[in-house]
Amino acid sequence: MPAVKDPYKVLGVDRKASQEEIKKAYRRLARRYHPDRNPGDKEAEERFKEVQEAYSILSDPEKRRAYDEGGGMFGGFDPGAFREGFASTFRGGFGSFGDILSDLFGGGARTAGGRARRGRDLETEVRLSFEQSLEGAQVPIAVPVEEVCATCGGTGARPGTQPEICPRCRGRGIESESQGLFAISQPCRACGGSGTRVTDPCPTCRGSGRVRRVRKLRVNIPPGVRDGSRVRLAGKGEAGQGGGPPGDLYVITRVDPSPIFRRRGDDLEVDVPITVVEALRGATIEVPTLNGTKRIRVAPGTRHGTVVRLRGEGPPRPSGGGRGDIRYRLVIDVPRELTRDQQAAVDRLAEVLDGNPRAELLARARSASGRRPSGGSA
Ligand SMILES: [Zn+2]
Ligand SMILES: [Zn+2]
Repeated sequence: MPAVKDPYKVLGVDRKASQEEIKKAYRRLARRYHPDRNPGDKEAEERFKEVQEAYSILSDPEKRRAYDEGGGMFGGFDPGAFREGFASTFRGGFGSFGDILSDLFGGGARTAGGRARRGRDLETEVRLSFEQSLEGAQVPIAVPVEEVCATCGGTGARPGTQPEICPRCRGRGIESESQGLFAISQPCRACGGSGTRVTDPCPTCRGSGRVRRVRKLRVNIPPGVRDGSRVRLAGKGEAGQGGGPPGDLYVITRVDPSPIFRRRGDDLEVDVPITVVEALRGATIEVPTLNGTKRIRVAPGTRHGTVVRLRGEGPPRPSGGGRGDIRYRLVIDVPRELTRDQQAAVDRLAEVLDGNPRAELLARARSASGRRPSGGSA
């Protein structure tokens, strides 16, 4: 497991920093490294994760104390479990700036419909034939999604009525409670963080502002995907709330195996049997490709397991940039039974192909056992 970085250093705050200072540092760094602002920047994404991780420790008095008491190590709880927990929230997708700000400050980004929240990312699988995985395909998918209710426009209130300001949090969506030295902020229990209360609920969504339905889409799968590839469809995830942007849809490709080829990274591999004689004398043999057959050379004296490549005959590289190879693994096929004629020929071969290929191996084994210490003498 990689070492957990010092969360104080990650956020650039003093060990005695107040919750307010920690929040401030987090807000500044999260904004700087947020993936929406640094698309495709791996380093920023890493920093963003570190910042989130550091903040999740220092913003939680329990975890912060456990960290401090552990002398920089995690004493009070299992860091593995902690990382696990982080990973699962992370899989749910990044929150938007709106999320970060409103989580921290009780509604930085407000719109008429309440708080702006990015929709969740969704994940679905598609099954592809081996050929489709090579050529790319347009496949229909059905994604169950939660969408903004069209009847009430997402407010949850019956059309013609308005949600009222939540009396518990006075519209902030957040409530604070003091526990010893720390004030803990959490989403308001009365309104779930929306800051509003619906008195006359919308009949379609029963006040939630959202409805479930199945959305049908046609997805373009690019050529060259593998079993388990993730194709990202930006903005095709769940609808955002309160004017927030939609999440993304990830399509995981499940590719049926080919009866001939195995996928090896960007290449394909196939075992090709050759005869003992072809291995000895060399030959030109016919092999399958993605498009008919081709001929390859087997060199004289070919060993079992030798790989011959046909460059650029493999699948298209999904990253763009040409095609992979096909790797032909030459497998020497030894007949199980011999005819009388063949037996005679093999006997003749045995007479002329002399020499013991194991001589060197056995000599090494003998000298090794000769050096082995015996009876405790060094
Ligand atoms: Zn409330
Ligand atoms: Zn509704």
